[in-house]
Amino acid sequence: MSELFDSFRRRINYLRISVTDRCNLRCVYCMPPEGVSWIPHGEILSYEEISAIVQVAAGMGINKVRLTGGEPLLRAELPKLIEMLSQIKGIEEISLTTNGTLLKRYAMELKQAGLKRVNISLDTLKSDRFRYITRCGELRDALDGIDAAMDADLQPIKINMVVMRGINDDEVLDFARMSYNQGWNVRFIEVMPFTEMAESVPSSELRQRIMSLGSLLKAESCQLSAISSDGPARYYRLPGDRGTIGFISPISEPFCSDCNRLRLTSNGRLCPCLLSDDGVDLKQPLRSNASPEEIKRLILKVVASKPERHRLSGDGAISMKRKMSQTGG
Ligand code: SAM
Ligand code: SF4
Repeated sequence: MSELFDSFRRRINYLRISVTDRCNLRCVYCMPPEGVSWIPHGEILSYEEISAIVQVAAGMGINKVRLTGGEPLLRAELPKLIEMLSQIKGIEEISLTTNGTLLKRYAMELKQAGLKRVNISLDTLKSDRFRYITRCGELRDALDGIDAAMDADLQPIKINMVVMRGINDDEVLDFARMSYNQGWNVRFIEVMPFTEMAESVPSSELRQRIMSLGSLLKAESCQLSAISSDGPARYYRLPGDRGTIGFISPISEPFCSDCNRLRLTSNGRLCPCLLSDDGVDLKQPLRSNASPEEIKRLILKVVASKPERHRLSGDGAISMKRKMSQTGG
């Protein structure tokens, strides 16, 4: 199998694909409450176009794909895309990041189409707070989504909590307890300053707080291969845990040196980094019948432009042309 390396000898084998910029929620750290201008439907890549890109990328060394958004489950017939991707030679794993609110309806169908596992975003266990953070969502829908994912065996399920000081950081211990009460694989994410709505809490502070529940054992001393195979999180376990506790710390403990991913936006821009406005358009070339060799050349150009590290320092909001919901977090 081919292998793909960037200029800093990082192996690139993971493609995150945003299938839509639209969302049924408006999380305070991700989107403004109103006035978002959506990408016109005709600009969004078709499933055939996404598959054509993945086909070329798989031949170059990409073997994992994650579908994200916006809210990916808003895209019509998503299982059809999963089925198409699962037939591409070289693609070993297809996963999904979702807010979970529509999972109850789709979990089983997604599994049957070839989806392996899901990450579900959940920032609070309190319904009034859920409505405040998402500006319009119902906690019950997200919890039902988690249950549906478990029933459909979309395992291991990871629960992503974006931690915001003064907004939901008082629930960190409740989430940590879910790792042994419910077997959840919880990941605490430092909020990135795309909006000024939220202040991040360093992961080191969270670890200190969680240690009031017991000592945190590092992943190396646990058998966590299914959870911690690669990716940005650092994993721990509390004594008696059935699940795990992970920390994703883009601000206080950047993981750029291990970054293995490229990102494809819903309108066909291939980007080397979440936190950069750089990227190369693949949609126009595809729509002008570019050959697979030409698409390969453009992918190589993006890989070569992958920065050594991101430019997030944590001191104030960063301004980017593309929002997280557009690139696909
Ligand atoms: N709608 C889906 C969801 O919420 O899971 C997928 C797209 S969302 C952009 C992907 C992930 O990005 C979610 O886990 C979300 O919490 C995270 N995210 C969005 N804005 C963020 C921010 N400012 N800082 C850290 N994580 C963020
Ligand atoms: Fe939507 Fe996900 Fe952004 Fe929340 S984090 S607004 S659910 S895209």
